Amino acid sequence: MAFLEIKELEKEYKDFTLSLSMAIEEGEFISIIGPSGSGKSTLLSVIAGILPPDRGQILLSGDDITGRRIQDRGIGMVFQDIALFPSMNVKKNIQAGMKEKDRKKRNELTERLLELVGLPGYGKRTISSLSGGEAQRVALARSIAAEPRILLLDEPLSSLDAPLRKHLRAAIRMIHDSLGITMLYVTHDREEAFAVSDRIAIMHDGRIEAIGTAEELYRKPCNLFTAFFTGEGTAIPASVLSEGASGTLFFRPENAQIADPDADSSSFPRHMIFRNAEIVSAEFTGDGYTLGLDWNGFQILARSIIRPRKKDVSVIILKEAIEILDS
Ligand code: ADP
Repeated sequence: MAFLEIKELEKEYKDFTLSLSMAIEEGEFISIIGPSGSGKSTLLSVIAGILPPDRGQILLSGDDITGRRIQDRGIGMVFQDIALFPSMNVKKNIQAGMKEKDRKKRNELTERLLELVGLPGYGKRTISSLSGGEAQRVALARSIAAEPRILLLDEPLSSLDAPLRKHLRAAIRMIHDSLGITMLYVTHDREEAFAVSDRIAIMHDGRIEAIGTAEELYRKPCNLFTAFFTGEGTAIPASVLSEGASGTLFFRPENAQIADPDADSSSFPRHMIFRNAEIVSAEFTGDGYTLGLDWNGFQILARSIIRPRKKDVSVIILKEAIEILDS
């Protein structure tokens, strides 16, 4: 039995239906990514009890919590918009939802949480004196102080600037690892999800399109949507290469290299070769170039360490790095 089980959950709006099942193990860090409007926030709101589902069940440690009140679910939530109490200082905010009654223990726990979120000694600070990143860390400490069975985070870093986001996402993962809290993290930032998650669920039109580790989703995507949502690549219908073939060939730029225009299969027995391709763009990426090539009207992305001198080339791809996906 999984720790959090979402069974055939459905929530309908006029033009949108959320419809999914998923299972999360205790202590897992799961990210939910997907385009805007795919249902990520709706899913979190249903799990938290803010929105009632139309159908389906939510089980936490085997307890059916589907109809339970928000405050009785044991679920914590951190949002993008920080909802701290402005009239209370940092310490009072953190202690607001704490279960521990003993004053000394409450203070010790507060200090420990402030250290965990990287704000030691901040207890007496007023909320108005905090920067955006500090306030978000206090909000995180406050949600953890309530000892939730599971913590839901809805784009908690999206209003912060890039360096701070990077720093805080590492802090959130560190807190997860040291406390072992099960976390469900919604983000639109693929890189963020890749960096912190045990597994990632990709949402699309109210459904879960794929779920797996970052490596699985990137290297072995189960469909084209997942392939392109997890990174760049080239898609060519199989029927272009062999009449009547079905599916779409997909490969990542780093698996596609350029070779001489007359490259032949005796020199590259393990590769598929696309001859007569023309380089139309070369973007410098620090560690090399991402090349855009035209091959019979199809765009191919390839990688090269040096800037190629010739425009007319072949593209070679290791056969085992090519996925055949449903169109
Ligand atoms: P995401 O978080 O992935 O951006 P949301 O869960 O916010 O997506 O929204 C999913 C879909 O549900 C969107 O099409 C949105 O317009 C619709 N939606 C969300 N809330 C409501 C509502 N209260 N009434 C009608 N439609 C809604």
